[in-house]
Amino acid sequence: MVATSRLAVLLLVLPFHPATATAATSMVERFDAAVARLPPEDAPADDGPARARRSAADVVVERRLNIEVDFPGDVHGAMYGGFLHGEAAVFTRSGHHLDATVMRDGDTRVMSFDEPGNGGAQADPVSAGTGAEAMRVRRSVSPGHFEDPAAYSLHFYFFKHDDLVDSNVRVLHARYVAWWMADMATHVLPVDRFRASYAERVRWLTSMPYGDAHSLDVFERTLKAMDHTYGFDMDRTYKRKFVLLTAGRPMPGTSGVAFEGGNEAIASIAGRTRIVAHEIGHMLGAAHLNAETRGWWGCETNMLSISSTVRSDCLEYSAANQRAMRSYMRHGPDTLAPRKMVDAPSPK
Ligand SMILES: [Zn+2]
Repeated sequence: MVATSRLAVLLLVLPFHPATATAATSMVERFDAAVARLPPEDAPADDGPARARRSAADVVVERRLNIEVDFPGDVHGAMYGGFLHGEAAVFTRSGHHLDATVMRDGDTRVMSFDEPGNGGAQADPVSAGTGAEAMRVRRSVSPGHFEDPAAYSLHFYFFKHDDLVDSNVRVLHARYVAWWMADMATHVLPVDRFRASYAERVRWLTSMPYGDAHSLDVFERTLKAMDHTYGFDMDRTYKRKFVLLTAGRPMPGTSGVAFEGGNEAIASIAGRTRIVAHEIGHMLGAAHLNAETRGWWGCETNMLSISSTVRSDCLEYSAANQRAMRSYMRHGPDTLAPRKMVDAPSPK
């Protein structure tokens, strides 16, 4: 037993750092040491002229983010902002793993590191309770809804559809979610707390059929039928957002669909990297017309509705959409306005 685990340590450590002077420690250990050196949470933020000078280290952790992450199997994660090999990165540290999201050339790249000797013990999926019973449809928060601003904080629930069986939840988080959550926690809503919870293989929910005009309605009805079992509190707050992540298109002709200002969306990872950020934006009051393209060959902000292959993603919300989301968080949705599905193909 002992001999085998030592061998495993050697095999895991060597390929990552063949040439560095600190090859005796793993990336995860160096990362944890950098986190331990962070100032206490109530200390003023260091806005960094020192940043460049510290970049001699391969991993630099600048700040803790106000984000909690729950992965399947009761694995909890924390998020940080910093640099990896000199490039801006968002880090998610969970269980025996470290996932780094590096923003490069208008796209995200994910680099994953394991603690020595922990090659990838993925935990059990969320077990399902009882099934869907009677289904009713109504707006998640009803007209005249009022809630105590302190009662809920922003909580995103991501359900990995069974057709994404080959996609690791941690990698999906790092590629499609971590970077915009970090941006929100740093720039958009810097005093709010955030949480992201991932679930897979949830009976009824992650096996639901999709791909036609009713997909989002079916997702919503299924969630509502399970609301009580899982304590979603869908009808009590506008600060919990539910997203089904799928392999294929949720509806013909679109890679995402959402209820504007509502609590439910479907996003396909066949779309652009910004697809989840885009649908989340719709649920938080951001709009297409506030989106920007920056320069002819430049980039597109998260809410741009039509994407061009010659432009990259800015991986940001425009300033106008940041304001719209702050306003939504303060005032909640317009519950008297007719309910609107966005990004759906228009009915003929
Ligand atoms: Zn849209």
